[in-house]
Amino acid sequence: MNFISTNNPARRVPLKEAVLSSLPPDNGLYMPERLPVLEPDFWQDWRDLTFQEIAFRVAQAFFGEDIPAAALRSIVDEVLTFDAPLVPLTGQQYILELFHGPTLAFKDFGARFMARLMGWLTRDDAKLLTVLVATSGDTGGAVAHAFHDVPGIRVVILYPQGKVSGLQEKQLTTLGGNITALEVDGTFDDCQRLVKAALLDTGLAGRLQLTSANSINISRLVPQIFYYIHSARQLPAGTEPVMVVPSGNLGNLTAGLLAERLGLKVRQFIAANNRNDVLTQYLAGHPYEPRPSEVTLSNAMDVGAPSNFARMLALFGNDQQAMRRRVSGCMVSDEQTRAAILEVANAHDYILDPHGAVGWCAAKQWQLKHPEATTVILETAHPSKFPEVIESVLDSGRVVIPERLACLANKEKHAIPMPADEAAFSAWLGQLPATK
Ligand SMILES: *Cc1c(COP(=O)(O)O)cnc(C)c1O
Repeated sequence: MNFISTNNPARRVPLKEAVLSSLPPDNGLYMPERLPVLEPDFWQDWRDLTFQEIAFRVAQAFFGEDIPAAALRSIVDEVLTFDAPLVPLTGQQYILELFHGPTLAFKDFGARFMARLMGWLTRDDAKLLTVLVATSGDTGGAVAHAFHDVPGIRVVILYPQGKVSGLQEKQLTTLGGNITALEVDGTFDDCQRLVKAALLDTGLAGRLQLTSANSINISRLVPQIFYYIHSARQLPAGTEPVMVVPSGNLGNLTAGLLAERLGLKVRQFIAANNRNDVLTQYLAGHPYEPRPSEVTLSNAMDVGAPSNFARMLALFGNDQQAMRRRVSGCMVSDEQTRAAILEVANAHDYILDPHGAVGWCAAKQWQLKHPEATTVILETAHPSKFPEVIESVLDSGRVVIPERLACLANKEKHAIPMPADEAAFSAWLGQLPATK
């Protein structure tokens, strides 16, 4: 299957180019040239399929023409070595736990799939592949972990100095080997700007094989479809859930909309924003106005210019009203986020992380107006990744830190300081070795 740019449907590229170039030269985003369909029998027995089987069938719909079934099946099986369980808070409110992967965040799904797909696509190339990642928190850890020790691939991570949590920083800066962390003197939007500039820099492109791995890469979106379908399958038969998605760059939400296009029955999508509510404002009828990001408790959603916006709109054929009908926005403040963590801990003995808490608030507001609704709240990270926030609300010791996170505390940070300057970043990249 070919992929097209949101800025120019006439420009078609094969899978390898869409995945490795990440951004089309016209600064759009890649989308499949046609929305794939699942084999006709899928929706007859989907509730009886395993997570792995659902994932394989979805992956095949997108990549089956390009990747042999056996290779695709083993990629999917290597990605899904952990589950995405659906936990009921009440009979009408469910938490979809997406934090059972190695870095305790939903980005493990996309990153692990992308790493293996890139590895497969470049298995015969002579040049080393350099993967650039801008992160506001979780992406970098998930990507670093996903690519760590993949032969023929080097990863460069840019993160905003002082704007990620202590443990997030350890996840980014302690792997070593083929993973290098750059501590950027600026915001997440600066990090994203440096990555975009490097990818469009023709001088660099002639020497290095560069690619990006943040949520703009098409290969990140597809594995996020898997768990929407898997979650709905765990609900009582016939339930059409309201999917509540804590949102930043809108990759997760776009994947949900793709799941619906594949035939999943969803009552409504809710984009839950923190103070960085560019999307919520837009969905309420205002013009789309990106702006600088602000720091909040749910820092992985501190995004002022959501990079998947054009892709989302493209899914609706650029029909703004159609998108506004299908997706509702909700802005949740830091005060509401803290109150939600406390309320859910007291009422249900369940500890949300700050991102899930934003989702829970949005779900609660929706259910006040739609008491019959069943909500599925995507819990995008494990609460132990945000100890400062949780312990400002709950007694300390309530969150058990999983071993794979706990052991990071003793490891030493290795990061290279970098100004928020395109020329400096380009010069630094320019001195890296180019071949395997
Ligand atoms: C990245 C991230 C989000 C936002 O997801 P998008 O796909 O960028 O909208 C939400 N929560 C956590 C914990 C994240 O890491």
